[in-house]
Amino acid sequence: MTPASLSRARELDAADPLGPFRDQFYIPCTEDGREQIYLVGNSLGLQPKITGEYVGDELEAWRRLGVRGHFSGPHPWMPYHEFLTESMARIVGGLPAEVVVMNSLTVNLHLMLASFFQPQGRRKKILIEAGAFPSDHIAIESHLRWHGLDPREHLLVGSPRPGAACLEMDDWCELIERNREELALILLPGVQYYTGQMFDLARLTKLAHSQGIIIGFDLAHAAGNVELKLHEWDVDFAVWCTYKYLNSGPGSVGGCFVHQRHAVNTDLVRLAGWWGHDKSTRFLMRPEFRAIPTAEGWQLSNPPILSLAAIRAALEIFDRAGGMPPLLAKSRQLTGWFAELIQRELGDSLEILTPSARGCQLSLRSADPRLPGRRVKQQLDAAGFETDWREPDVIRAAPVPLYNRFSDVAAFVDRLVRIRAGEP
Ligand SMILES: *Cc1c(COP(=O)(O)O)cnc(C)c1O
Repeated sequence: MTPASLSRARELDAADPLGPFRDQFYIPCTEDGREQIYLVGNSLGLQPKITGEYVGDELEAWRRLGVRGHFSGPHPWMPYHEFLTESMARIVGGLPAEVVVMNSLTVNLHLMLASFFQPQGRRKKILIEAGAFPSDHIAIESHLRWHGLDPREHLLVGSPRPGAACLEMDDWCELIERNREELALILLPGVQYYTGQMFDLARLTKLAHSQGIIIGFDLAHAAGNVELKLHEWDVDFAVWCTYKYLNSGPGSVGGCFVHQRHAVNTDLVRLAGWWGHDKSTRFLMRPEFRAIPTAEGWQLSNPPILSLAAIRAALEIFDRAGGMPPLLAKSRQLTGWFAELIQRELGDSLEILTPSARGCQLSLRSADPRLPGRRVKQQLDAAGFETDWREPDVIRAAPVPLYNRFSDVAAFVDRLVRIRAGEP
């Protein structure tokens, strides 16, 4: 790789207004103590340095206050999830009343399907994409069976054109229109986890609603990564996790969006629990259920506070950075430059599967026998580059605007060039 690109990377880093945020995260080290080039924030986001303190505060509150921690201390546990709502709502473009942090992604997906998949008359089918994340596919099939429907008949799966990696939005729209009378629900990703393709949620939602179809999104790879305006786009529901771009720790509690139009309807059928019941009478401990008329009405249990504390820390970093707009601006520049470098330095060896509608991730497919996927991954590991390998031949690399640098991207491309040249 040219020294000019490497010095350009240093210039871009020096001019990056978000550059100092890297220092607010712990960067994992290689065995010999060097900082890793960490490009897997799409899989597990890095730990903010304040997380330990925030979690420690709640351990201390428990130690000192015992059960009184529910109501006393600086962040009482009873309303603790509410401390997260506004920041989280800004990240996904929802109203605070439409957003709740609870459960995990797949659990939330089940709760949403219980409310929003109501097969009736001819409308009994669900549409997903062929490359859907396994958990989505499994959850959807289980709901069809739950309703006594055969997935072979009632699950519609949209695939890319032969030979293509990504789905054309026009093809999707056509598929929806062709099946409009039989579709009850559509579930799609915000950003496809394998290809990194960003879907046009506004257009899909508009089309679905014009045909009377409910539409929800799995935002696992979209939340904290791309611009979302769930309220404005009129999305029915969405679910996401917080351990990827939202940096809240392995298995951390997930997020859920229910559009206000639906959330105020307390008669909407749901799988319910006491934490979704009207707060003013919750502790009368009576068996009746009166749903909170917001997304909180889908809560089941009192939440794991230690995990919520980690989310509060992570969201505070987003707020300090100025929210999504500056992150999106850097992300476009950083990943744009990444794509440019790949094309310039490795264009005849690597294919970029990710289209220009994307977040920060690039999915790279090797078409060069000097860069055989699995071995490249091993060599990257050995050199301290953390990337993600997906069968059969795709490397995913995601420079995250909060903590990755232009020089990380340059070093990664430089390393691939060296591996291709047979350097050890
Ligand atoms: C990571 C991911 C999940 C994970 O689901 P959990 O319930 O949090 O284990 C689901 N869907 C997609 C698209 C993902 O990328």
